[in-house]
Amino acid sequence: MAPGAALQPCELPTLSPGSDEVVVQVAGCGVCHTDVGFAFDGIPTRHALPLVLGHEISGRVVATGENAAWLGRSVIVPAVIPCGSCPACRAGRATICRQQYMPGNDGDGGFATHVLVPSRSLCAVPESLPSGITLEMLSVVADAVTTPYEAIRRAELGAEDVAVVVGAGGVGGFGVQIAAALGAAVAVIDIDRERLDLAAQHGAGLALDASSTDLKGLRAAVRTFVKESGRKGVGLKIFEMSGTPAGQATAFGLLDHGAYLAVVGFTPKPVELRLSNLMAFDATARGNWGCPPDRYPDALQMVLAGKIVLTPYVELHALEEAPSILDAVAKHAVRRRAILRPSQSKTN
Ligand SMILES: [Zn+2]
Ligand SMILES: [Zn+2]
Repeated sequence: MAPGAALQPCELPTLSPGSDEVVVQVAGCGVCHTDVGFAFDGIPTRHALPLVLGHEISGRVVATGENAAWLGRSVIVPAVIPCGSCPACRAGRATICRQQYMPGNDGDGGFATHVLVPSRSLCAVPESLPSGITLEMLSVVADAVTTPYEAIRRAELGAEDVAVVVGAGGVGGFGVQIAAALGAAVAVIDIDRERLDLAAQHGAGLALDASSTDLKGLRAAVRTFVKESGRKGVGLKIFEMSGTPAGQATAFGLLDHGAYLAVVGFTPKPVELRLSNLMAFDATARGNWGCPPDRYPDALQMVLAGKIVLTPYVELHALEEAPSILDAVAKHAVRRRAILRPSQSKTN
């Protein structure tokens, strides 16, 4: 894409990998709100435009540099690829590595037939997948699954906790399932009845419609749910996954004593909050920029083991539909995680 211009198809040059790079033939690439931010909201990409967007990639390695071990392997490309050697990486904070590489931000991304990425940190996908799971569907592990996975891991969510997931869309639907798989009682809040029903079928014990219930009503319903859940954990663990100002305000408004608030969704829009509530409630708020690649195998395993189901939460589209799909995602008109699929990989 070019600055301020609509997305356009273009011919890529032949990609030849450097010594520590691979070329991945894209099976699928998920569409994220971050892509929308780059495309429509003036969020600058780190690499100058024009640029191919897309950072939620699965595919097959078709060319390698010196590290030929990956050749022919099915992989998930982490959305954030840290350098592995800087002070942040060495301190175990790989997600804030300043030398990190993000496809579709630091270089051409996955809304393409092929993508050139660093070979470090690739997540291997078994060649034989459980029925109902395809390599193209697994693209969503690269962000929509691993980002809430990491947020939930950092929250140390366990079986004695009550999790509240705000936003049951492309990311929140996975968040609900991960939280439930860890044994937590899960309440979900959204404004879309269909999403709420789906979340209730896949892990949520309570589904609240914020379009018909005000904050006071939501708080009361969550309080009752906590009591009835019998969980002993102190403080709600709240996960903001809607990436909307309204969702963020709701998530913050649900803080109780000892609460933990994880900000997972992204919006460039500001929201007015009484920040002192953190102090008054002795609460914690935290964000996470993706997930360190070394945790991808565990998240992938949850998918392969059926603890996180993908099918009801994803929809596949031809790569050529990218402009209209991004537009629909920007308008929050896509209920599921959209995956763009180049036509060549239809047989994968
Ligand atoms: Zn993303
Ligand atoms: Zn680093």
